Amino acid sequence: MMSTFLLAVLAVSAHGIGQKPGPKPVDQQGKDPYVNCPYCNHVGDKVCKKHSKAKMGWVTDSGSIRCSVVAGCKTCRGTLREDCKHCENQTVEGRNKAKGDEIQAWLAERRTTVDGLIGHKVLHAESRWFRLTFDLKPMMVGRVRYSTYRLMHLYLKRFEAHRALFQEVLQVPMRDLPDKCDIYMWRDGRDQVFAATKFTGMGSSGVGIKLMGLHSRYTMQFIRRQIRNDEDLHRHMVHNIAHLLVSQMIPHQWIGKLKAGWIDAGIAHYFEFKLDEKCTTYCWQEVVKETNFKGGKWLVPVRRKVASRQIPSFAAVSTKNTDQIGPEEHALAFSYVHFLLEGDFENDLVKKHGGKGRALCVAIRVLKAKRPTRDALSAGYGWNPLVFEEKWKEWVLRTYPVR
Ligand SMILES: [Zn+2]
Ligand SMILES: [Zn+2]
Ligand SMILES: [Zn+2]
Repeated sequence: MMSTFLLAVLAVSAHGIGQKPGPKPVDQQGKDPYVNCPYCNHVGDKVCKKHSKAKMGWVTDSGSIRCSVVAGCKTCRGTLREDCKHCENQTVEGRNKAKGDEIQAWLAERRTTVDGLIGHKVLHAESRWFRLTFDLKPMMVGRVRYSTYRLMHLYLKRFEAHRALFQEVLQVPMRDLPDKCDIYMWRDGRDQVFAATKFTGMGSSGVGIKLMGLHSRYTMQFIRRQIRNDEDLHRHMVHNIAHLLVSQMIPHQWIGKLKAGWIDAGIAHYFEFKLDEKCTTYCWQEVVKETNFKGGKWLVPVRRKVASRQIPSFAAVSTKNTDQIGPEEHALAFSYVHFLLEGDFENDLVKKHGGKGRALCVAIRVLKAKRPTRDALSAGYGWNPLVFEEKWKEWVLRTYPVR
């Protein structure tokens, strides 16, 4: 007992409580050099005070790693650390400078590539998986009016959450989704035309344009006739980003033009459905006249169709490209995917793949190799199209609401 007590006392006195700072304390080893400066709590720098707590809350909460507003701070150059004028700490100052340089290079690139193109400054942010250019007007989110800045970070957060859900549902390993998505959201039609031409290589029509395959890009204009509010917009973005992710999954390929529109559109609608059980988004590729089939509430009409037997066959729907399937067929495409991901079927091959998400990915890979739906179903599930259709119908009749 005695010796333990003595050791403890010796250890404390060796650190020299109340003495002048001499050599670096033991717990500071491996950290920055110690500077004796009460103004900065001996650190060498301090928090930049130009950023309000509320706004920084939006930034951190969104998972943002770069933000043009933060980067635009003259005091800290986006590092959020301000040099302490009362002392010198070269390690800390050097590190802040390097970080500031990196952030400024990012900002300069955004300013040149995007702002330079459209001729005015807009907001930019970047998270782990998304680069977002954002120029929407302030909008109501629930009962709260969100500024453009706050809205940008809200959408960034939602995109990250959507991607995480996509990965979870389809059981996609990180290595199979290696790329960031570039997203541009405009209030102005002219900016949308510039961005669509430059970043997707296509002229603008409708709300948005995607580039799929090697690069995942989506540029869209908020048009109130087609997207009424924040909820609609959220659903719209989830739908379109799902398209990007399906085509980005290794190997890069857009199956919507390989007669697999039923999976391409089906998955995009499925993630809309996961959001608020409504499917209201039709892409520019999807030629649709009636743009709001059954108000987006599809379970009841799909069940009714199946029960009535007046329904396009799976064989017919599953040989079309995404831009060839009509509104009613969109609802069916959603339901096929809904069944494949959530149906209560027992299937040994699916178990062998490691789950329903994996099985669907196996099917998608077959489609990406330009083989038909028949081969995809066989590889993923061991079913032929007729067996699949029977099982799907049985599930719909048993589980979808009658009204
Ligand atoms: Zn200091
Ligand atoms: Zn600052
Ligand atoms: Zn779509």
